[in-house]
Amino acid sequence: MSIATSVQDGNGGSSTTTNNLALIASHSHISGLGLDDHLQPKESSQGMVGQLKARRGLGVILKMIQQGKIAGRAILIAGPPSTGKTALAMGLSQNLGNDVPFTAITASEIYSKELSKTESLTQSFRKSIGIRIKEETEVIEGEVVEIQIDRSLTGGHKQGKITIRTTDMETIYELGNKMIDELSKEKIIAGDVISIDKANGKITKLGRSYTRARDYDAMGSNTKFVSCPEGELQVRKEVLHTVSLHEIDVINSRQQGFLALFSGDTGEIRSEVRDQINLKVAEWKEEGKAEIIPGVLFIDEVHMLDIECFSFINRLLEDEFSPIVIMATNRGISKTRGTNYKSPHGLPLDLLDRSIIIQTENYNEEEIKKILNIRCNEEEVEINSDALNLLTKIGVETSLRYASNLISVSYLISKKRRSEIIEIEDIKRSYLLFLDSSRSVAFLQENESNYID
Ligand code: ATP
Repeated sequence: MSIATSVQDGNGGSSTTTNNLALIASHSHISGLGLDDHLQPKESSQGMVGQLKARRGLGVILKMIQQGKIAGRAILIAGPPSTGKTALAMGLSQNLGNDVPFTAITASEIYSKELSKTESLTQSFRKSIGIRIKEETEVIEGEVVEIQIDRSLTGGHKQGKITIRTTDMETIYELGNKMIDELSKEKIIAGDVISIDKANGKITKLGRSYTRARDYDAMGSNTKFVSCPEGELQVRKEVLHTVSLHEIDVINSRQQGFLALFSGDTGEIRSEVRDQINLKVAEWKEEGKAEIIPGVLFIDEVHMLDIECFSFINRLLEDEFSPIVIMATNRGISKTRGTNYKSPHGLPLDLLDRSIIIQTENYNEEEIKKILNIRCNEEEVEINSDALNLLTKIGVETSLRYASNLISVSYLISKKRRSEIIEIEDIKRSYLLFLDSSRSVAFLQENESNYID
């Protein structure tokens, strides 16, 4: 039985309320790629269902990004509409965490009135490069500093290595292993003074005005003790800030100033400013003050870019600071914008040639059902099994996205008849109220004469 024949008009009710209807973005159920410790995709995990091959591929990319092994590469996620290309990119971004910059744009954003296409692309690229800057600050009075020692180096055993910097280097180094036990137990407050017993490595808090200074640095810790000129002991910690290259551009651009960061109205940034910043960042990197983190730039609907943008992307990918560019498209063989020739996915062959291509495939019925069920949970609506089966059938015959959109509509219809659970009638009703694309096309064809050409 086709969906059209299984659906009849449902019954009406009295009042409609939007209470309890959570407004939730379409990918909010995705919290990662759903991979295990060996980066293999679990059938259904972190909101992700199926699409195993693509997830496996992205797992490898994830690892390489985390290890800082790839930058300046292009990855193309290609596949039919609603097969999870954007969802996969969102999953990757969640797995990367907050410290790795992830910028998502839709290709059509490039055609803004305020910025040229090349400036807009350059800003997106530079938003996707993180600069982790190291800074030392004093621990504020009263702050509790915990010393952690990285024992993973020694297989979880106590003999972790600690590095000690002091004039009395040799003696203290010998004590290093013995100190680990004590350090890991101790909580030292800023301004605390400690003594280290040379014989057994025991650390004792002495009070707050001790003159014998001692420096040491526990591995795996971001806290260290330094001696100041008078010989007093101070506790200092290393703080890491991550900012994007674009933020540094804006702050240093005299025309814009840092307030532009809040308004988002950054305007064009002169290339001399960027050149100077590139030099400075390279210098910081050289001096060990900064680390460069190539992040990810995700360009959805990439076939909307034109040939000028594509050739500019080719150039940007060769820049010394380049992120990983992930593109997504649902186009097959189609025209590259701005040209008269067709190519796979509408991308010029040179860019295609340097891209790693990850394919997504259409879902089977079971996968569609699982995804719809996850969406119902995410939208905090209850659905009974008959209704879910019909929704799945609609998903199979129309599209996952259309079926997914019917969830909130069906929920409102169920509320109208004072029910807390979506039933088959609610799905049927919303299916009749809202057309999917193929029924809409059929309607247009039948009623062509009523429309303006
Ligand atoms: P298009 O080509 O039309 O842009 P797309 O391939 O980017 O489509 P998405 O927007 O990612 O498709 O997917 C449509 C909806 O289905 C979204 O709500 C998405 O979160 C969900 N979805 C798609 N694939 C999966 C999946 N494997 N697991 C869980 N949810 C998914």
